[in-house]
This record gives sequence, C-alpha cells and structure tokens, in this order.
Amino acid sequence: MISQTIADFTTLAIQSGGWMEMDRVYLQNRILGMIGETQLEAVETRQPPQTSTQLMDELVEVAKNNRRVGDSLSEQEIFEAQLMDFLTPPPSVVNAFFAQFYATDPKKATDYFYKLCKTNDYIKTRAIAKNIEFPAETEYGPLEITINLSKPEKDPKQIAQEKNAEEVHYPQCSLCMENEGYKGRSNFPARTNHRIIRMNLDGESWGFQYSPYVYYNEHCIILSEEHRPMEITKKTFDRLLKIVEVLPHYFVGSNADLPIVGGSILSHDHYQGGRHTFAMDKAPIEQTFSLEKYPNVTAGIVKWPMSVIRLQAKNKEELARAANEIFARWAVYSDEALEISAYSQDGTPHHTVTSIARKKEEGFELDLVLRDNNVSKEHPDGIFHPHKDVQHIKQENIGLIEVMGLAILPPRLASELKEVVHYLLEEKNEMAAYHQLWADQIKANQRITKENVNEIIKKEVGQVFVRVLEDAGVFKRDEQGQAGFKRFIATFAK
Ligand SMILES: [Zn+2]
Repeated sequence: MISQTIADFTTLAIQSGGWMEMDRVYLQNRILGMIGETQLEAVETRQPPQTSTQLMDELVEVAKNNRRVGDSLSEQEIFEAQLMDFLTPPPSVVNAFFAQFYATDPKKATDYFYKLCKTNDYIKTRAIAKNIEFPAETEYGPLEITINLSKPEKDPKQIAQEKNAEEVHYPQCSLCMENEGYKGRSNFPARTNHRIIRMNLDGESWGFQYSPYVYYNEHCIILSEEHRPMEITKKTFDRLLKIVEVLPHYFVGSNADLPIVGGSILSHDHYQGGRHTFAMDKAPIEQTFSLEKYPNVTAGIVKWPMSVIRLQAKNKEELARAANEIFARWAVYSDEALEISAYSQDGTPHHTVTSIARKKEEGFELDLVLRDNNVSKEHPDGIFHPHKDVQHIKQENIGLIEVMGLAILPPRLASELKEVVHYLLEEKNEMAAYHQLWADQIKANQRITKENVNEIIKKEVGQVFVRVLEDAGVFKRDEQGQAGFKRFIATFAK
C-alpha cells in the first residue's frame, strides 16, 4: 500500500521539474527512509489519482506510526515541509523556470510559481479554506470581510515546546532571504519547501515570494535582500512603479513605516502585491486637481472613507516625483483644528503614507493614503485608529490590506457573531458584553427574523468596517474635514 503512495509521490516529484526519471529509485529510497519503512514492493508507475497533499498525509501517517515524527504541530509541519521539498526544484531551477515563462508572458511566470507553491503546500490552501469570507454592501461599494481562521491553533505541547525553546536569532525575521530552505523550529515556521524568486529593482536585489496564508488571490510579498526597517522614501515609489511594470497584472502596495498605522512587520523592508481588484481600486475620483510642477500627472481625491490622493501618469519617473512631493508636504503638515500634527513637541514624526501602485492600460496609477499615528487622551490607541466603540469588531492596526477595503477580522468573531445572532433572535446566548450596545442598535433599527438575521449581521459588520476606516481617515468625510483636505491640497496644487 505505502509502496504505491511512495511511487506516486515520486512521480509528482519528477514532474515538478527538479528531478529526472533516472532519480526514481533514489527518491523512493529517500522517502522510504524518512517515513521509517524498510522495504518497497513492486508497484505500477502511474499518474497519481490523489493530490499532493493527500499523498503527503498518507506518508505522514506512516511516519507517525513509526515514530519518525513527534506529535506537536511544529514537528509535523517540519516533517511535511521536508517531504514537500521533494516536490520543489532547488531555487536556481525554480528561478530559471520563472525566467523562461516570463520571457513569453509575465502571467505564465506567476502562474507557474503560484501553482508550485500550492502543490508543495507552502501556501496552506487547506487552512485558508477555513476562513469565513463575505462581501458587505456599503456606500463605498462592496467591501470584503474575512474572519481569519487559517492560522492553526497551538496545542499545549506546542506551547510547552516554544516555552523551552532556546533563543535563536537566525533567520533574523520571517521575511529574511535566509528562510529559503530553513528547517524551522518549535517557534519558527518550517521552510524547507520555500522558494524565493530573485528580482532586480533598479540595481538592488529583492526577493519575490507568496504569503503562506494568502488573504486574496496570489497574495505576494516583495522583500529587500537586506534586513533593514521599512522606510518610505522616493525610492519606495520608484520601486512600487517598477514592480508593476515588471508584473503588470499585479498591484503592489507598501505599508506605512510608523507604528499604529503600519503593518505587522516594520523591521524588514517589504511590499505586498497580488492579482486582486480591491474595492478601493474601483472607487472613483471625486474631485480632480492639477499639480503645479507636474503638468502630465492627473491628481484627484478618491471617494473613500480614508483620505486618498490618486495620481495617474504615463511616465513613472514623473509620477514618483509628484508622489514624493505630496508625501514630503504631508510629512510636515499640521492642522490643529482637525487634531492633525506632523510632530510631537519632542520632534517625533507622526505623518506617513500607505501607498499602492497599479499598471493601467494608459499608464501608471499611484494611490497615497495619508496616515497620522498620533494618540490623545481621548484616543490612547490612536486618534486615526479604530475608536473604542468599534474595537469589539476590530482593534488591530489598519494596514495596507484593510486600507484597500478587505477586513481581516480576528478568529474570535467566528463564534462571537453566532452569539450575537442568538441574541438578536432573542434566543439563549452567551454574547460578549462588548457587543451589547451594537446589537441593541441593530435590533432597534430593523425587524429581525430567522430568515434575514444572517444577512443583517453581515451588512452590519460591513458598516462597522466602514466606521473603522473612517476613524483611520485623517480628513473626515464631513464638511469640516473635506475643507481641511482642500487646504492641504492647496499647499501644492494650483
Ligand atoms: Zn528580516
């Protein structure tokens, strides 16, 4: 039985492009040894009826019975990644395939690499399928809501192992190039089957990889070869535009480089991209304006809950210069009437941008989302951060992905929202106290039935997400805020 599984797995390894038919006996023996078996029976060579992950599961099962794998989650993941490494050509070969496909069509290159990363289980397709996803209709178009259930829950054994794990500083972080092929530890992900595509961005060496827990189609990460902090400069805009020129079917964006308004990793310079159209991409320009120094750049304010300036141009160098000027103006801009301050009294800077680049048929597009990470007595978590009354749904940072209209909500909401539904239907429930006010408001405003309650809750979560984004917006959508936005624009527009 297991001999057939080993033969089938070997067939997939050879088909992956990293081995030849001559390697078959060698590969089968390597796998045989890994799972702790001693002999192979003669079986047929065929196109396997199972998927790669099904075959992997069968091999892991035998290895567990033979005590070749421990019970903890990390031990199993390390073993799985080592098995799947057979289905993954070495980095030089993956890069050569990528370049070969790229020469005919950039889409074929990313298709090849994305498929490889799914087949070898580097992208955790099965875990991602557990996420709860739904669209929520709002005044800004349909926003996307995801309750993130893909990160595996840690079992007690895992937690104990992590506690006892020795402190290691290699790789320096989870975005470093040194992750490629790294075995992993109880407190660090298994990466034997991980591959990175090398990218040259105007003379600097960068890596291109997918996210193991993709939040949207072809969610990729472009990372600096050097472990250095996130920093928004003119070069950021240059690089973003260069990346969409190289991969015109992908968008790419950069998180802000300050805490509260930045992403979860500020210590390693990186961008995120992918093949997905977010609600913000489709949001129209409400009002256009001209830039004095950049006559060939079209500029406008986007109809969006956050404060977004959209720039469009044929020439990417001119576009990057225009973006950098607006960024520089914003970095020093204050408007006390709106609680907007560029610096604290001690000189700490508070202004930065989240930026997103896209390649359009007519040229390039760059969105600059103005960010401010100040805190106040009233809003100790951030003046332009989800306020207390919406934190029962979302209290985490509003990073690049949320900014564009895709909410990544914490796993606790999967069960909590079910309790809210019971409460709304006046059934027995264990609804958390912090949802009470929200639930009562929902109840007061509409007639709730068993038939419509699920739709209502989705729509209401969408409304809270709109509020979350409005809280993160520096120039509010009211008259006073929009007048403030125009005062800022007047500092560089004609
Ligand atoms: Zn790093």
